[in-house]
Amino acid sequence: MGAIYIHIPFCRKRCNYCNFFSSTLIELKQQYIKALQKEIELRYSYLPSLTLNSIYFGGGTPSLLTNDEINQIFDTICQFFTIRPDTEITLEANPNSLTREYVKSLTSTPVNRLSIGIQSFFNTHLQVLGRIHSPQQAHLSIQYALQYGFTNLSVDLMYAYPLLTLEQWKQNLAYTKGIPHLSCYALTLEPSSVLNLQIQNKEYSLPDDDEVIAQYQTLTEYAQSQQMEHYETSNFCLHGHYSVHNTAYWQNRPYLGIGCGAHSFNGHSRQWNIGNIPLYIQHLQNTHTPQQFSSLENIIFEKENLSVTTRVNEYIMTSLRTMWGCNLDYIAEQFSPLYAEKLHKKIAHLPSAQYILQSSVLRLNEQGALFADAIACELFFDENENF
Ligand code: SF4
Repeated sequence: MGAIYIHIPFCRKRCNYCNFFSSTLIELKQQYIKALQKEIELRYSYLPSLTLNSIYFGGGTPSLLTNDEINQIFDTICQFFTIRPDTEITLEANPNSLTREYVKSLTSTPVNRLSIGIQSFFNTHLQVLGRIHSPQQAHLSIQYALQYGFTNLSVDLMYAYPLLTLEQWKQNLAYTKGIPHLSCYALTLEPSSVLNLQIQNKEYSLPDDDEVIAQYQTLTEYAQSQQMEHYETSNFCLHGHYSVHNTAYWQNRPYLGIGCGAHSFNGHSRQWNIGNIPLYIQHLQNTHTPQQFSSLENIIFEKENLSVTTRVNEYIMTSLRTMWGCNLDYIAEQFSPLYAEKLHKKIAHLPSAQYILQSSVLRLNEQGALFADAIACELFFDENENF
């Protein structure tokens, strides 16, 4: 089974914190869709399996696609892949796009999961973050999604940004009550972002570490109170509502990324397309065979062959962020028993209050999860180590 990610890079306006590849060149949308369709045709055999369990329209703002445009892209995918009735088909959406009419129009597409980028229900926060939607649109987007049958729903909220109080954070979480999937990310400050500049200019200040930890703890307590599973550092869901797509990333499974800036992984190498929409369109217009596409390495895409050690380190990093944990038997089978043996020794040096090692599976507890990335770094192997 495989997963496809389709990147729709257009946004009406850049948010103040944005660190994704996005552009306001919406006038290129039609040409870009044709280029996407061409790339699917040229690269479908990248995935080892032609049966998909996930299609993910991410962005940017994929909800700038009309229902006809979504269907056009989907029809192209169907020409090359088998789509099962249970294939998860997600559309990331901005509340500002999710009018009643638009959500209704989505029922004529195969989209069966919506991921709404709300971030906050407070106007002051939306202004700090430079979001284009209003609190009212945030509430209505959820209402319309549920009304038109999109019960497989995810909401993105953000924390650790200026002006967010603990009470407001609790309120933001409470507004999502009953929604089966929550993604909550701490703000990551992109050096070139507007918000970073505003912080440098002392217009805003970031919360200190204690405040951020309190916000994170409030989040995990809220999720527990709702019987949500904390299945990845930043992701929570009611039982069974795991994101099929993101779980593929976290469990080291292959995926094909289509579109500007999209990343692909086939188990041995990673490649990523250029983040330049006009150039991407131009090259795809002039490329007609998979061989021609492959010859465009370092022009339209870049590729990195991954050493076994890099793949082990990536597995440690991503798996430790999940509730399924890092499976040392899997490492022994997939990579080499020597990695598993050495890992056992490294684990013995971790603070015992942060993890559980059970049946060769290393999992971080809530305290350890706060330091997941640092713990992963402790366990990493050096490229020069001998095996
Ligand atoms: S909607 Fe997302 S991708 Fe677009 S500018 Fe905002 S943060 Fe960036």
